[in-house]
Amino acid sequence: MTSSSKPGTARTVAVIGGGAVGVATASFLLREGFDVVLIERGGLGEGASFGNAGVLAPSSVVPMSMPGTLMKVPGYLLDPLGPLSIRWSYLPTLAPWLARFVRSGTRERVQAQARALKPLLDDSFSAWLPLVRHAGNEVLIQRDGFLAVYRSEADFAGDALGFQLRRDNDIPFEVMRGADLWAFEPSISRDYTVGVLFRQCGHTINPNRLVRTVADAFLRDGGRVVQARALGFAHAGGALQGVQTDAGLIPASAAVVACGAHSRPLAAGLGDDVPLDTERGYHVLIADPETRPLRPILDASAKFVSTPMETGLRMAGTVEFAGLDAPPDWKRAAHLFTLGRRLFPGLAPHHPEARVSRWMGFRPSMPDSLPVIGRASACPAVVYAFGHGHVGLASAARTGMAVADLVAGRPPALDLAPFAPTRF
Ligand SMILES: Cc1cc2nc3c(=O)[nH]c(=O)nc-3n(C[C@H](O)[C@H](O)[C@H](O)COP(=O)(O)OP(=O)(O)OC[C@H]3O[C@@H](n4cnc5c(N)ncnc54)[C@H](O)[C@@H]3O)c2cc1C
Repeated sequence: MTSSSKPGTARTVAVIGGGAVGVATASFLLREGFDVVLIERGGLGEGASFGNAGVLAPSSVVPMSMPGTLMKVPGYLLDPLGPLSIRWSYLPTLAPWLARFVRSGTRERVQAQARALKPLLDDSFSAWLPLVRHAGNEVLIQRDGFLAVYRSEADFAGDALGFQLRRDNDIPFEVMRGADLWAFEPSISRDYTVGVLFRQCGHTINPNRLVRTVADAFLRDGGRVVQARALGFAHAGGALQGVQTDAGLIPASAAVVACGAHSRPLAAGLGDDVPLDTERGYHVLIADPETRPLRPILDASAKFVSTPMETGLRMAGTVEFAGLDAPPDWKRAAHLFTLGRRLFPGLAPHHPEARVSRWMGFRPSMPDSLPVIGRASACPAVVYAFGHGHVGLASAARTGMAVADLVAGRPPALDLAPFAPTRF
């Protein structure tokens, strides 16, 4: 990994985790004039930020746990192509998280969660664009809409509360049916009869390149990257001395924990027992596909997203509860391809292995679908920025701006109360 050093005596801030959230946060902190060191144990942008669906969607204010979600779970689990699977040996570990997940799905709570997510997601573009523009790669972000499609009016009606939440939060959408939908998006099967277009949404054509490009600009501007695993913090009397890593102590007077699904032990070391778990997700990507949609499509009946990427057609989704250590179950990726062919009849049934890639990653998931953004209990010089679940790419840059406010000692422009680490 390359690194460069910033001359001068600015206060040093250590950002732990080089995913979308960490890299965006490090970039905004550098703009504030801090000396910033980004600590990443692996490759930049190679965690959850590598293989997601790339969607930047203000429309994603709808939380994962909704009234009625629990009733759908048995059907999901029984269907081999269903959007959910649980490794049963993981259930005892997951049980407290699941209980909170179910409790957070009341009508009042989902309304509050959607309200909290709205400003984080609304600014997806205005927060990311200055970073990619500065990096000289604006083409990485495209604002060409996001289309949700349904196989039946009944499926569409089943999401009525989600659309009400969007209306309540002034998120515009247009409903199309039958021939209008097929003319608008010719690649999809005529079995899909209802479509909902969110014009203000968009996507990145390569999430990994987005993160790496912004990281390259961070390095060029004098930021530093250290390859190391953070183990804990050296602090006394509320002041931070540095981050303890497997490569020794990295001195810093402030730090940010942005380790995605792996953040829990670092927060626990600072007295915050946050209920962070992971919803593992998969993708299958077909290079040089026979057909591709004009914009990302959510198959809202089967619950996966197909995104036209610069590297091919990516079908991403599924939720698998199996923790951080279990090996991937590649059947989940194969199912995504089966579902993809159902959505895009023009996609060939078989592809040479050289044109297919598969991926599994760890969504950093909180039971109330809200991230953790706030100061650590035992050392306020450490700020948390993790737990963005299904919307971490879209909300990473806006999170970085809020964290920069906190570290600079300004009242954040975003109301951070709903994201407090101590809310549970
Ligand atoms: C299938 C799928 C589809 C998705 N689709 C979308 C989408 O369309 N739009 C969207 O907005 N979001 C989407 N998401 C969610 C999104 O990918 C995540 O929320 C986001 O990538 C989280 O970013 P992060 O920076 O918090 O975590 P990560 O990208 O996981 O980065 C965390 C980094 O921290 C490093 N790290 C961990 N522990 C340590 C340590 N102790 N020391 C040093 N480094 C450490 C890791 O190596 C990693 O690089 C999707 C997720 C999946 C799985």
